[in-house]
Amino acid sequence: MAPVHQGEATHCPYCALQCGMYVSEDAGGAITITPRHDVPANDGALCQKGWTAAALLTGGARLTTPLARASRAGPLVPVSWDDALDRVAAGLRAVQDEHGPDAAAVFGGGGLTNEKAYLLGKFARVALRTGQIDYNGRFCMSSAAAAANRAFGMDRGLPFPITDIAGADTVMMAGGNVAETMPPFLRHLRGALVVIDPRRTRTAGRATLHLQPAPGTDLALALGMLHIAVTEGYADQDYIAARTSGFAEARASVATWWPERAERVTGVPVARMREAVHLLGDAGKAMIITGRGAEQHAKGADTVTAYINLALALGLPGRPGSGYGCLTGQGNGQGGREHGQKADQLPGYRRIDDPAARAHVAAVWGVDPADLPGPGRSAYELLDALGTEGGPKALLVFGSNPAVSAPRAGHVAGRLAALDLLVVCDFVLSETAAMADVVLPTTQWAEEHGTMTNLEGRVLLRRQAVAPPSGVRSDLAVINGLAARLGHADGFSADPGTVFDELRRASAGGVADYSGITYERIAAGPGLFWPVPAEDHPGTPRPFLDRFPTPDGRARFVPVDHRPPAEDVDEDYPYYLTTGRVLAHYQSGAQTRRIAALNEASPGPYVELHPDLAERLEVVSGDLVRVSSRRGTTEAPARVGPAIRRDTVFMPFHWAGANLLTNPALDPLSRMPEFKVCAVRVERAVPD
Ligand code: SF4
Repeated sequence: MAPVHQGEATHCPYCALQCGMYVSEDAGGAITITPRHDVPANDGALCQKGWTAAALLTGGARLTTPLARASRAGPLVPVSWDDALDRVAAGLRAVQDEHGPDAAAVFGGGGLTNEKAYLLGKFARVALRTGQIDYNGRFCMSSAAAAANRAFGMDRGLPFPITDIAGADTVMMAGGNVAETMPPFLRHLRGALVVIDPRRTRTAGRATLHLQPAPGTDLALALGMLHIAVTEGYADQDYIAARTSGFAEARASVATWWPERAERVTGVPVARMREAVHLLGDAGKAMIITGRGAEQHAKGADTVTAYINLALALGLPGRPGSGYGCLTGQGNGQGGREHGQKADQLPGYRRIDDPAARAHVAAVWGVDPADLPGPGRSAYELLDALGTEGGPKALLVFGSNPAVSAPRAGHVAGRLAALDLLVVCDFVLSETAAMADVVLPTTQWAEEHGTMTNLEGRVLLRRQAVAPPSGVRSDLAVINGLAARLGHADGFSADPGTVFDELRRASAGGVADYSGITYERIAAGPGLFWPVPAEDHPGTPRPFLDRFPTPDGRARFVPVDHRPPAEDVDEDYPYYLTTGRVLAHYQSGAQTRRIAALNEASPGPYVELHPDLAERLEVVSGDLVRVSSRRGTTEAPARVGPAIRRDTVFMPFHWAGANLLTNPALDPLSRMPEFKVCAVRVERAVPD
C-alpha cells in the first residue's frame, strides 16, 4: 500500500460523478482541496460540496470513539473497541440463537467503496448466514437498474464515456437536475437540451425545451412521445430490425397513446412533445438520460423502460455518440449494486437465485452453495419488518441514515426503535446513529484506500490522502473484528487491497467483471470501464457497440403502460408533493449539514409553492407552512415562486421532514418506493 503523503490525487466523497481532486495537508494540519484536470468527469471543476469537503475531515462533529448504551433508555457513552465489538457480536448471537439466522439484518450504503460493499455482502451471507441484506441504493438506482437489465441485459449507468455527451446534438434529461446535484456535468451538455421536470429547476432553466408534466406522469409522456416518433416516421427501421426485438409489441402498446391523450394525462402541450421528438429524431447524435425524478415511482422501472423504448425506436443505444443512460446518484451507487450488498445479488452483478452464480461465488468464499442464503427483503420491506413477528431483531447499518432517507420515515424510526439491537457504523452521529445501541466510528473517504465505480462504470482508485484520527477504524476493520468474534477469523481481511483481489475473483465471468483491474492499473490513469476480464484487457467504454449482452445480442423493447400514482390527490389531500435536492447538500444531509459553509448556503428545509397557491393560502415567502400527508406532518418556511406547477409543492429531502410524508408504495419489479409523488394538504402554519 502506498505511503500517506501530501497532495494526493483522489476523488470527492460525495456524488457519482466522483470528481477528481488533490488533497494536501500542511504541517499545521490544514487541508486544501484542488480539482484535478486528468479526470474527464470534472476536468478541473468542482461544486461547492467538493470545494468544502476538507471540512468533513477536520470538522468537530467527528466521532472518534465507540459509543454504547447500558440500556435502551440510557445515554450513549464512550466504550472501548473491544467492548463495543463484543457487545455487537453477543447481541447478534443472542437474536440468532433465539430467532434464527434471518433475525440479524444488514443495511448498507451506496457511498461505501467496492471493497466494503463486497465484504459486507460476504459478511452477511457467510458470517451471519442471513439473507436479510439490502442497501440505500434501492432508494436511488433500482428502477433504472431493473429497466436497463430488462432491456439491455446489463445495467451500467452511462454505457458510454461521459465525454461522449458533449458530442450529442440533443440530450433529453428526464427527471435529472445536474445543475444542482453534480454541476460539473453541465460542461458535457453542449447541444440542445430537453428537460422533463415538474419544476423549472436550475437545469430546466438552461434547457432549449422544458416539458413540465404533472408528478407521476412521466411514463405517459414517454408513451406519447413514442407514439409521435412512430407515426411521424422517426422510428429507425434498419436499427430496429438489426439490433432489437419486440418492436411490434411496443408499437402496438402506444397505438392509443395519441398525443392529445398524453397531454390530458401529463399537462404537457402536444406541440411541446412534438418539438421534443423532433429535436431527438432530427439530431445526428442524441441521448436520453433519466434521473430520480422519472425513476423514484411505484412504476419507476416501467417509466424508465418507456424512455428506453423511445431511445430504441430512434436507434440510439449502441450507436457511437448516442444512447440511453441514467444518472447514478451516490458516490458508489454503481459499484454498490454490483458486489453483493443488494438483497437479490451476488458479486459480479450476478443473480442470487442463479445456481451457476451461487456455485462460482461459493467456491471463492470456500463455502457450500447450499449454505448461501437466498434473496432477502428489499430495503423498505426490510426496514418495515424490523422488530416485527418474523422480522429481523438486530440491524447493522453501514454508511446510511434511513431514519431520514427512508420513505414514511416516522414509521421507519419506530421500527428502528423496536429492535433488540441497532448498530450504526458512521463517522458522524447521524439521526440513525443517535438511535443506536452501539455506534462504531469509522474512517472516511480521504483517510483510506478503496475503489469507487462512477456513473460511467469507470472504476477509480480513491486514495488515502491524510491519516485518520486516532480512535477510528475502517468499515473493513469493523467487519473483520465482528467476523472474528462470530467464528470467522479468516476470510474477512481489513486490508482493502486484499479484499479487492478477492472481489476480482468473485466477479470474474460476471456481467460486472473486475478480474482484470488492479490497483496498479487504475492508479496510473483515470480508471477502467468494466467489464475488464483480463489484466491485458483495455476495459469496455462502450459495451453496446456491436451487440447487447442479452442471449440473442439484441436489445429488448418491453411494452409498458401508464398507471396513476399509487396515491392520487383528492379532497382531503389536494396537492402533489415532490422531493429533491439542493446544490449545497447531499443525500440525508448527515455530512453536508455539518459543514458551516454549506449550511450558510442552504440553512434548512423549505416548501416551494406557486404564487397562485401562496395567494390562496395567504402566505408569502418565509411564512411557516404546514404540509401533511396520510403518513405525517412537517412544517417549513414557504418559498414562493413560479418555478413549480400550481398543483404541486416541492421539499428538499436533506433534512428530516420531507420523508415523514412520502409514500412507501413499491415498484413491483425494482422495489423502489414512490418518493417523487404523494398527495398532501398544505396550510399556513399558525405559530404556537
Ligand atoms: Fe463533483 Fe459530485 Fe463532488 Fe460536486 S459532489 S465535487 S459534482 S463529485
